[in-house]
Amino acid sequence: MNHLEEISAIKVSGNGNHRSVMKPLYAENKELEGWGRSNRANSDVAHPTDQHQLQGSIHHTYDRTILARGEGRSYGDASLNGGNITLQMEKFDYVIEFDRERGIFTCEGGMTLKAILETVVPAGWFLPVTPGTQYPTIGGCFACDVHGKNHHVAGSLVKHTHWIELVVANGEIIHCSHDEFSDLFYATAGGMGLTGVINKICFELQPIESAYIAAEYFLCKNLSVVMRLLEAYDHKYPYSVAWMDCVASGDNLGRGQVIFGEHAKKEQLPENLQENPLHLNQQRTIAVPFVPPISFVNPFTTMIFNQTKIFMDRMNPRKRIESHINYFYPLDSVRRWNRLYGPPGFIQYQFVVPNEGGGNAITEILQTALNHGHPSSLAVLKRFGEGQPLLSFPRPGWILAMDIPVRAGLFRMTAEFEKILLEYDGRVYLAKDSCLSPEGFRQMYPEFEGWLNIKEKYDPEWRFNSDQANRLKLREGI
Ligand SMILES: Cc1cc2nc3c(=O)[nH]c(=O)nc-3n(C[C@H](O)[C@H](O)[C@H](O)COP(=O)(O)OP(=O)(O)OC[C@H]3O[C@@H](n4cnc5c(N)ncnc54)[C@H](O)[C@@H]3O)c2cc1C
Repeated sequence: MNHLEEISAIKVSGNGNHRSVMKPLYAENKELEGWGRSNRANSDVAHPTDQHQLQGSIHHTYDRTILARGEGRSYGDASLNGGNITLQMEKFDYVIEFDRERGIFTCEGGMTLKAILETVVPAGWFLPVTPGTQYPTIGGCFACDVHGKNHHVAGSLVKHTHWIELVVANGEIIHCSHDEFSDLFYATAGGMGLTGVINKICFELQPIESAYIAAEYFLCKNLSVVMRLLEAYDHKYPYSVAWMDCVASGDNLGRGQVIFGEHAKKEQLPENLQENPLHLNQQRTIAVPFVPPISFVNPFTTMIFNQTKIFMDRMNPRKRIESHINYFYPLDSVRRWNRLYGPPGFIQYQFVVPNEGGGNAITEILQTALNHGHPSSLAVLKRFGEGQPLLSFPRPGWILAMDIPVRAGLFRMTAEFEKILLEYDGRVYLAKDSCLSPEGFRQMYPEFEGWLNIKEKYDPEWRFNSDQANRLKLREGI
C-alpha cells in the first residue's frame, strides 16, 4: 500500500451522552485514469463514508484542491486532480426514499445507475435519462448533465431532477433546485464537479410496463440516408440512435444502422415473458483481465468488426424485443473493454453541431479522420432536442461520439476537428473531452462567464479543481 495520510479528523457527536469522537479520514496516494486510459494522474485518494467526513475533508485541506470522483466513466481528465485530493464517492450508495406511487427517487450521490435500476425496475419504473453504460454514479451523471437516446424528447438529467444537496467550498451543505439556489443548481449540472460535492439527489422516474424494449433496426447505405431516417421518424420513438461505420468511404461514407426503440408494453412481449414482465435480467458478462501489450483496435480490425456486424444484422429480424440491459448497455457485457486499446488507450471525441449545416460538418469530420488514416473504431450519431443553460452540453442539432485509438498524429487531427467545429458553431462534450484547447472551449461555451461568476461566488478560492479545468485554464477567466 502506498503512503496513507490523514487528511482530516472531525469531531462526531455521540449518542446523546455528549461523547464525541475524532473520526479521521485517510488518503492513499495512487494513480487514477479516465475511462479512455490515455489520461492518468496521481492524487491522494480518500473514501469518505458520511457527510461529516465530506465536510471535514473540504474544511481541513485548505492547502490543496479537491475533486469528487464517481466510477471514472468520463473518458478524459474530468475526474482527475493530479497532485491534489480526490474524494472517491462509492460509499455514498444508499437509497434515502423511493416513492413507488409517484416514481420519485432520492439517494446518495455515489449510487450507481445499476444499483438504482435494480431497485426501481421490478417496481415498474425506469431512469428518466440513461447514458450508454449502467456503471456511472448518479452524482457523476448530474455533474456531467448526461443525456440518453431520448434526448430529443426528454432532455438531459437536470430537467428531471427535483433537487440536489451539495457540499460547497466552506463545508456548508446547500439544498438547491430549480427554485432554491437555482444558480448553483444549474452551474452544477454540467459543472464537472467544480462547484462542490453532490451528497444527495432527488429525481423523477418514468413508468414502464416491462423491462424490455421494442426495437427496430434499419441498415442505411450512407450518412445522408441515416440522417434522413432519423429526421423523418425519431419524433415517433422515445429512443433513437445510429451506429456508424467510420471506416466506410466514398458513396458509403457514414453508413450505419439506425435503431429506434420504446419501452415494450406487456402485450407486446412473447407469451413466456408476459408472466413476469418486470423481471430484471442479469447481463452475461466477460472481462478483459489485463491490458494487452499492444492495441487490438486499428483500422483493419475495425473494418472486420464492422463488416461482421453488418452481415450479422442482415440475418436478424428488423423488429426485436430486447431486455433493456442489452438495448441500452451493450458495451457493459465486456467488463473493462477499455483495456482492448492497449497501453496508449483511446479518446472519445463527442460533439454537437446545429441542425443547419450539421450534415456538412459531420461529413468533413469523417473525411478528415479517413484522410489521417485514423477513423473512429466505434461511433454513434443522434439528434438532440432543447438544451439547458451554462455548461450543460446538449444543444439542438446532431451529435456524433467517436472512440479513437491513441496513435501518433492523433492530436493534429483533433486540432483540425476543433477548427471545423468552430466554423460550424459546434461544441465538444466535456465528459468525454481530453484535447480541447482553452480558446476553443471559450468559443464553444459562450455561457462560461456566467458559470464562472457562480462558481466564484460559492468557491472564490477554487477549492474544487481538476486536471481538465487546468488544461482549459478555467481559473484564468474569459
Ligand atoms: C460506455 C460509456 C457510454 C457512455 N454513454 C454516455 C451517454 O450516452 N450520454 C452521456 O451523457 N454520457 C455518456 N457516458 C459518459 C458517462 O455517463 C459520464 O461521464 C458519467 O457522468 C460518468 O459518471 P461517473 O460516476 O463515472 O463520474 P466520473 O467519471 O468519476 O466523474 C465525472 C465528473 O463528475 C464529477 N463528479 C463525480 N461524482 C460527483 C459528485 N458526487 N459530486 C460532484 N461531482 C461529481 C467529477 O468530478 C467529474 O468531473 C458514457 C460513458 C461510457 C464509459
